[in-house]
Amino acid sequence: MPFSAIVFYLDKNNIEYEINKKTSSLVSYKVGGEAKIIAYPSKIDELCNLIVKIKENKIRFFLLGNGTNTYFSDRGFDGVIVSTKKLNRIIVSGNRITAMCGALINNICLSALSNSLSGMEFMYGIPGSVGGAVYMNAKAYEKSISEIVEKSLIFDTGTLKYIDFSKKEHGFFKKDSIFMKNHNLLILETSLILNQENREQISLKMNDLIQKRIKSQPLNLPNAGSVFKRPKNNYASRLIDEAGLKGFRIGGAEVSKKHAGFIVNTGNATATDIYALTNKVKEIIKNKFGIELVEEIIYVE
Ligand SMILES: Cc1cc2nc3c(=O)[nH]c(=O)nc-3n(C[C@H](O)[C@H](O)[C@H](O)COP(=O)(O)OP(=O)(O)OC[C@H]3O[C@@H](n4cnc5c(N)ncnc54)[C@H](O)[C@@H]3O)c2cc1C
Repeated sequence: MPFSAIVFYLDKNNIEYEINKKTSSLVSYKVGGEAKIIAYPSKIDELCNLIVKIKENKIRFFLLGNGTNTYFSDRGFDGVIVSTKKLNRIIVSGNRITAMCGALINNICLSALSNSLSGMEFMYGIPGSVGGAVYMNAKAYEKSISEIVEKSLIFDTGTLKYIDFSKKEHGFFKKDSIFMKNHNLLILETSLILNQENREQISLKMNDLIQKRIKSQPLNLPNAGSVFKRPKNNYASRLIDEAGLKGFRIGGAEVSKKHAGFIVNTGNATATDIYALTNKVKEIIKNKFGIELVEEIIYVE
C-alpha cells in the first residue's frame, strides 16, 4: 500500500520512475536483484520533497549517485532507490565550479579543462558523481576531493532543513566524511575552488593520469574500483597479491589478475559471489598477515 502512495506521488509530480527494475543496470558491478521503485528527480526540491514523502510512508530508501561504489543484493531492494542522475547541472564562475550532486566527476573535469581551471586533474577517470565523491572523500594519487571543496548545500532529512556546509563542516578525514556517519545528510550541490592554469598543461596531466588508470586497472570488466581501504602503512592490493590471490574466484567474481585491489565481474557474477569473495579475501588476509581489511564498496542488503 505505501508503495502505491509513492507511485501516485511520482505521477502527480511528473517525476520519472521505473518499477521492479533490475539494480544491475544502475551499478558498475552489473549485479543485483530488482528494486521496487527507482525514481529520477530532476530538480533539487523534487529530490528533497520526494525523500520527505518516502520517509512519511516509512519506506526504505537509498540515494544513489552513479553506482560505481555500490551494489545491491541478489534479493533486490525492497524500497525506493532515488537516483541523482538527472541532477547534473555544472556552473563555472571564475575559479569556482558549482555542480549538482549527480554531475559526473569526469564531466566536471572536462568543464574545468575547457575553462583552463586546474586542481582536479587527479580525479579524472573516477567514474562517480560529485555527491558520491564528497560522501566518501574520493581520493586518487595522494590527493582527495576535500582539498578543492569550498562548500556544499545540504538537506537534512532529520530536521527537514537546508544547510550551507563550509569545508570544515564536511568532517573530511582520510577517506571519510560526516556523511558516512550521519545518513540524514544529503549533499545537493558542491562548489569546488580551482586555479587558472595553461589549458595544454591541464590536458597533458589529465591524459597522463588516464593512461596510468588504463595501464593498471581492469577497466574491461565490470568493477567498482578498489574494494578495500588502505590499511595503515600498507596497501590492500600488495597484501592480496602477496597472499597469491590474483585470479582467485568465487562463482563469476574474481580478484583481478591485473590489479589485486579490484574484484571484477567476469561476466556471470552475482552480488552473492562478489560479497562472498570480498569476505573470503578479508579472512585470508587476516589469517596470513593479522591485518583487518575494511571494505570501501557499499553492499546494500
Ligand atoms: C574503475 C573505477 C575506478 C575508481 N577509482 C577511484 C579512485 O581513484 N578514487 C576513489 O575514491 N574512488 C574510485 N572509484 C570508486 C567510485 O567511483 C568513487 O568512490 C565515486 O566517488 C563514487 O561515486 P558514485 O556517484 O558512483 O557513488 P555511489 O556508488 O552511487 O554511492 C556511494 C555512496 O555515496 C552516497 N551518495 C551518493 N550521492 C550522494 C549524495 N548526493 N548525498 C549523500 N550521499 C550520497 C550513496 O548513498 C552511497 O552510500 C572507482 C570506481 C571504479 C569503477
